Amino acid sequence: MDELGAYGICSLCANQRLIVSGRGQEFSLCAVSQADPDWPRYPRMPVGRCTRFEERGSEPVRRGPRG
Ligand code: SF4
Repeated sequence: MDELGAYGICSLCANQRLIVSGRGQEFSLCAVSQADPDWPRYPRMPVGRCTRFEERGSEPVRRGPRG
């Protein structure tokens, strides 16, 4: 694991949604998949490079609906 942690560059991306399962396990969902069905909903982690990366800026990571 590098300095970006378990999710790699998704941790810095505006498209990341953190999902917590009923068992309390956290998953990184990629919101790009909502508009593009060919894009993985749960990319294999950690993500090192991504063509759809969008810098998050200062806003906190968004929590997404489960599923
Ligand atoms: S667009 Fe790429 S970097 Fe951003 S959350 Fe999705 S998979 Fe991760």
